[in-house]
Amino acid sequence: MQTTEGQTAYSRTNPFQAKVLKNVNLNGAGSSKETRHLELSLKGSNLSYVPGDCLGVIPANDPQLVSAILEETKWDAEQPITINKQGDTLPLKEALTTHFEITLLTKKIVQQAASFTDHAELQQLVSSENVEQLKEYIDGRDFLDLLRDFGPWKASAEEMLSLLRKMPPRLYSIASSIAANPEEVHLTIGAVRYMAHGRERKGVCSVYCAERLPEGDTVPVFIQQNKHFNLPESQEKDIIMVGPGTGIAPFRSFIQERAVTKAAGRAWLFFGDQRSATDFLYQDELEQYQKDGVLTRLDAAFSRDTEQKVYVQHKMLENSKELFEWLQGGAYFYICGDKQHMAKDVHNMLIDIIEKEGSMSREAAEAYLNDLQEQGRYQRDVY
Ligand SMILES: Cc1cc2nc3c(=O)[nH]c(=O)nc-3n(C[C@H](O)[C@H](O)[C@H](O)COP(=O)(O)OP(=O)(O)OC[C@H]3O[C@@H](n4cnc5c(N)ncnc54)[C@H](O)[C@@H]3O)c2cc1C
Repeated sequence: MQTTEGQTAYSRTNPFQAKVLKNVNLNGAGSSKETRHLELSLKGSNLSYVPGDCLGVIPANDPQLVSAILEETKWDAEQPITINKQGDTLPLKEALTTHFEITLLTKKIVQQAASFTDHAELQQLVSSENVEQLKEYIDGRDFLDLLRDFGPWKASAEEMLSLLRKMPPRLYSIASSIAANPEEVHLTIGAVRYMAHGRERKGVCSVYCAERLPEGDTVPVFIQQNKHFNLPESQEKDIIMVGPGTGIAPFRSFIQERAVTKAAGRAWLFFGDQRSATDFLYQDELEQYQKDGVLTRLDAAFSRDTEQKVYVQHKMLENSKELFEWLQGGAYFYICGDKQHMAKDVHNMLIDIIEKEGSMSREAAEAYLNDLQEQGRYQRDVY
């Protein structure tokens, strides 16, 4: 695809091969986390973005997992495999590496696989009265588990692979401002690793970025606009940002942008993680921004530094009077990061604070927050 200027238009379906300029671990030795800071070059792509946008990254599967599948099945790694309805083919090993999602099972995959084996347990598992057991089975298991658990298989490699979905790209909040870093895009990626059913599991994209994307290599990317998570149009407006862990990413972009534009509005960041000594992501930069006055306030919470766990919402409560004054003065409130726990805790704490500092009923505090949301002054980017 070409733009009117004759330049290739890069997109989700036609990603740009971005060169890796930097790939470092932000956590110190002894941390139980690994958070990668990636700097990619957009040179020659004509791609641009605004703070709040995301970058789509198209990963490749773990070569060790691909090898384990080939070992288990004894499939010919080079045989051509049809990968779509248009009849395009890839050699089997490449298809397993770059095209198919092999780390996730769905009910549909397991149900369809049942017609490719006589294994009694699988027939049992997919019968209509065992919906709950099927749900339990797919949780934390992958294609290799399925192959191992219910063989021998009567199907060809191509039939087995036709069960799988195409690998979806992963989205990451952009952690840089293009005004501060021309032709570059930065990301903050937490490596996902955990044990399930006796095997170490690795997040496809985060571990690809952590383990197999050295400086100088390229990675396919595209820009995903995010119309619902943006800096206020007015430079005068105050912003409050709550971004623990990788939730810091878009706020690094916000802060860099506001440093370049010399925005008059104040900026307040709540950051949190496990330990201050090893997990205070971007600490030096943030403290410098504070010295320079770009960041008006920086409050950090570390859950493993003290016996009593301290989280970002506790820091908000400690500063509830001032926080409410900022809101009353027209501040925008942003949350980014963990959807399951953090975003809910911060949301509830915000209502508590409005209730307390505004001397309102619970209902009135909730209505106040709804009103903020309708004005675009309460924005969330949670995952
Ligand atoms: C808008 C948006 C912005 C995002 N921004 C960022 C960002 O800035 N930084 C960032 O790091 N991520 C971000 N993410 C998340 C990111 O897109 C990926 O989901 C994340 O990196 C994991 O992808 P993966 O391919 O490594 O893992 P996958 O292979 O997709 O595996 C993840 C899955 O593993 C399972 N899992 C994970 N941990 C466990 C566990 N302990 N036990 C059992 N099962 C588990 C869960 O089912 C989880 O869905 C964002 C997501 C969205 C939607």
